[in-house]
Amino acid sequence: MTVRCGHATDVGRVREHNEDAYFVDEAQRVFLVADGMGGEVGGEVASRLAIDTAREVLEAAQGDWLAALREASRAANRAILQEIAARPELQGMGTTFLGIVLDRGSYYLAHVGDSRAYRLRHGGIEQLTQDHSWVQLLVEAGQMTPEQAQNSPMRSRLTRALGREGEVADVGSGVWHGDEALLLCSDGLSDVVPEEEIARLVYAHAANPQEACEALIAAANQAGGPDNITVVLITGERFSSETPAQFSDEEETRPQPLVRVDLADDLPSSATTIPVTTPNPTTSIVLGTRDEGRGARGQKASFSWLNGFVKGFLFALTLALIAGAFWGVTRLSGQYFVAWGEEGQEPGIYRGTPRWSWGKVADLPPAVESLAAELRPLLAGCSFASLTEVQQALRQAQIEVHERRAQEALQREDYPTVRREGEALWQLKPRPIEAYLLLARYWYHEGNQVQAQEYLQRAAALQPADPRVQKLRQELTPSPAPEATSSSPTLR
Ligand code: CA
Repeated sequence: MTVRCGHATDVGRVREHNEDAYFVDEAQRVFLVADGMGGEVGGEVASRLAIDTAREVLEAAQGDWLAALREASRAANRAILQEIAARPELQGMGTTFLGIVLDRGSYYLAHVGDSRAYRLRHGGIEQLTQDHSWVQLLVEAGQMTPEQAQNSPMRSRLTRALGREGEVADVGSGVWHGDEALLLCSDGLSDVVPEEEIARLVYAHAANPQEACEALIAAANQAGGPDNITVVLITGERFSSETPAQFSDEEETRPQPLVRVDLADDLPSSATTIPVTTPNPTTSIVLGTRDEGRGARGQKASFSWLNGFVKGFLFALTLALIAGAFWGVTRLSGQYFVAWGEEGQEPGIYRGTPRWSWGKVADLPPAVESLAAELRPLLAGCSFASLTEVQQALRQAQIEVHERRAQEALQREDYPTVRREGEALWQLKPRPIEAYLLLARYWYHEGNQVQAQEYLQRAAALQPADPRVQKLRQELTPSPAPEATSSSPTLR
């Protein structure tokens, strides 16, 4: 198996630092991408730590690549948590993680976050990973179209990332034929360059993966380059821009669905999604049903053929029901939802779905219960893969609600509410720039310039180049120009 590889990373046109990190080992066929987040240095630290840790684990591994990738994700998660514990100023840092290993006709993949893996083959492109992002949850719940998700200002908000307790990764594998290419990228590419354009550029440079990577980076920068861009392209020996006359899409070449694995526990069999083909533990019930049927046939011998038909039908029906129930159980046991006190379910986080619930597993925090009316439409119909995911989603939804309330309060110049919502945001965010800006506005309105400047300074310390900081600084600085003062809030 010969593969060729291209790779490149670029800071983009807006950011000052490159918080992406990647690693390529062409001999071992290990390919890693991480996209860090969290403050001035946090993002770079987190992505570098994830790549270095994962790389060490994978270099020492042999054979079972799915287990090795899971261990690599777990070790990376642990390393970031330990770094945060040792350096509290890094609180809130995290990173996406995407790892692919190629070995003997298969690829193995692990992923957390919104860095993506695509497979390109026979003129087509397909995404192998599902983003762990807030907008992806809304798309899956049918509340947002993929196009709306692509353009949403919330699209970079993640529901999962390394650097959190109890995190889970998606792992999986598929067949590698040698006539395909795998593309790994950070959202700096996938957010701004449409999938069809990505495919067009990869196929156009099929003979030279390094050129393809450079073309992809140029395309992202041409689209504004709002974020760091990282691409790794692996092409098989028979990958080409020519589409075969006969498109073959054999079952075995379809990518297998990824499986969620818990990064927090040490048990090797912790996949929360069990494949449907697992031996059925309830088989004994089926046998019991058959035995009863046999007894009945003895009493009504003349209808034995009919009996046999009915029994066969009932047997098949029973099997189908049990298979269905088992499928349901395995699916639902890995799902959580939030109930808000409707339809007889008291407020709380439940396991299962609203119709098939295992019961409550956690109470809703008082802050969430008090926002029920506004949070409910944001989370209606959403199901989550873990308690962590529910909590992340609730927190994200709370932030949305408080931000919206604060903006509305600003518009109607209701400053006590601005302060209240600012403080609520401050409680929710590890780096609360929005909260500082709101509190600065509140104190300015109260006529307390000292407090207002203090909060403005805190916001500026976090993101000096943030346009909102600069705009507020202009507003809060008394200026002789009438245009500058006309937009400031009226002093009491
Ligand atoms: Ca990014």
